Amino acid sequence: MIIGIDLGTTNSAVGIWRDGKAELIPNAQGDLLTPSAVSLTEDGTVLVGIAARDRMATHSGRTVTAFKRRMGTQQTVKLGKTEFTAEDLSSLVLRSLKADAEAYLGETVTGAVVTVPAYFNDKQRKATRRAGELAGLKIERLLNEPTAAALAYGIQDREEKEPFLVFDLGGGTFDVSIVEVFDGIVEVRASAGDNRLGGEDFNACVAAIARPRMDPDGILYRLPAADQTALLSAAAERTRRALSEADRAECIVVAEGHRLGTEVTAAEFETAAEPLISRLREPVLRSLRDSGIRVETLSEIVLVGGATRMPIVRRAITRMFGRFPNTAVHPDHAIALGAAVQAGLLARDSALDEVRLTDVCPFTLGVDHTEIDARGNYHQGLFSPIIERNTPIPASRMKQYRTISDNQREVHFNIYQGEAREVSGNVKLGSLRIPVPPRRAGEVVVDCRFSYDTSGLLEVDVAVPLTGESHNLLIADEADAMTPAELEKRRETLAALKIHPREDQENAALLARATRCYESFLGDARHAIGQWITAFEAVLDGQNLRAIAQAREELTRQLDALEGERFL
Ligand code: AMP
Repeated sequence: MIIGIDLGTTNSAVGIWRDGKAELIPNAQGDLLTPSAVSLTEDGTVLVGIAARDRMATHSGRTVTAFKRRMGTQQTVKLGKTEFTAEDLSSLVLRSLKADAEAYLGETVTGAVVTVPAYFNDKQRKATRRAGELAGLKIERLLNEPTAAALAYGIQDREEKEPFLVFDLGGGTFDVSIVEVFDGIVEVRASAGDNRLGGEDFNACVAAIARPRMDPDGILYRLPAADQTALLSAAAERTRRALSEADRAECIVVAEGHRLGTEVTAAEFETAAEPLISRLREPVLRSLRDSGIRVETLSEIVLVGGATRMPIVRRAITRMFGRFPNTAVHPDHAIALGAAVQAGLLARDSALDEVRLTDVCPFTLGVDHTEIDARGNYHQGLFSPIIERNTPIPASRMKQYRTISDNQREVHFNIYQGEAREVSGNVKLGSLRIPVPPRRAGEVVVDCRFSYDTSGLLEVDVAVPLTGESHNLLIADEADAMTPAELEKRRETLAALKIHPREDQENAALLARATRCYESFLGDARHAIGQWITAFEAVLDGQNLRAIAQAREELTRQLDALEGERFL
């Protein structure tokens, strides 16, 4: 049996082609989406999915999310004492999805169609294939995500040369692709995007409206900055989702035992989000321009990614194209359903072939820099992108930087690849120092040029126009590290990891959530949560399945009442 898998940055999903249609397969908790999160418990057991994601707040040193952004790099993260690459972590997610599919179908899964972003290069695609092998899955086909979305919308059943525009607004990135079938081959004609635009930016708008009103006494300021952001952004996420259905919604944060809240209206949110909405336009225009396809000839505009559920986004799209987008398929499910369609086609030997689009830079490349805020505080270690991910290559881009202290003698550039705002979250590629003449802060300009070519070679040129001095650094793409023997060894190591028993995953997820709530609430609420956990653990010890199911329902209700229903 071949399954279709959407291996996403935030969530993953698995589907199957059955009885003439694609359907999604629920995981052990009954959810159709599985968070792409991995956590290693203290006794060395691996948790995948919602249980892992809920441990992010309480066990951040043992939990990891968003590893897809590092796919194809040799960078590792340490969970407890064990090091994992993005490939290893992806294999754990794939293994879990495979187990879900086998439990649901009652048969062995041998192979999978796995989706990858259209801009993934060879290395990232190879890494995805290896993740499959490490999970004991034969990767029958890697499928571009926009192609998968188009398949979910039936592009294969249309006349040839009916281009689809796939509009994918996710949690952190925005991608527009134009997909077309020509001579039985699917082609992603163009891909454009903004890798700094997604649902999270819209959360920041809600947070900015709500914060001053809900917290006039500045209680949140007593918390560490990272906790303030995390709390506010989770609350804003809930509010924003509610605003997709209603005209107004509460935004509530519990901090230091205080329940802070305010109401946010859809109108206020939409006004604040206008600048973000206007950023949706440029990538759409670029994709049309690059593909040479006119907007009137587009056959369908299809929506993918949870953030396209915002009415303000849908209205903007309707305005932009002068017609309604097609929303028949759930935007969070479209890619996995499309992978399932391709799995079905493969099984019938009629799969559509694809032309790959790989002449783009797969990662954002840039340097570290220091920002000075309005209050004169220095923020070090921030990432300054120079060549953005998805830029057609060969590409050459220049950015100017200025000295930040008086009589500074030298400018030091560290070069990074990645998408994180802080360079600590990106991969360091090299560094370069250049002397500058001593002047007042900001008076010396340094030009930094990046040139990236099709063989993955990055050339960095740094020049000081004032002195005419320049320095150059060449950074070659890292070699693919693993030999077949090493791969086998890695597979054995991963296979030896204890995986949390599937039948117990729901309980583990609930306990992780309760523990997270225990840490975020204070006073009476915290006391009550502590008692609920003790009671739930006692029922688990009793091993009576009916009693466990009842207790699980009860605890879920109690937690929902405290923090609202959980969402994926
Ligand atoms: P994805 O990366 O495709 O999983 O999309 C995740 C994004 O979708 C997050 O930013 C969510 O806030 C957003 N999202 C999910 N459901 C909704 C909803 N009902 N209304 C608005 N945004 C949503």
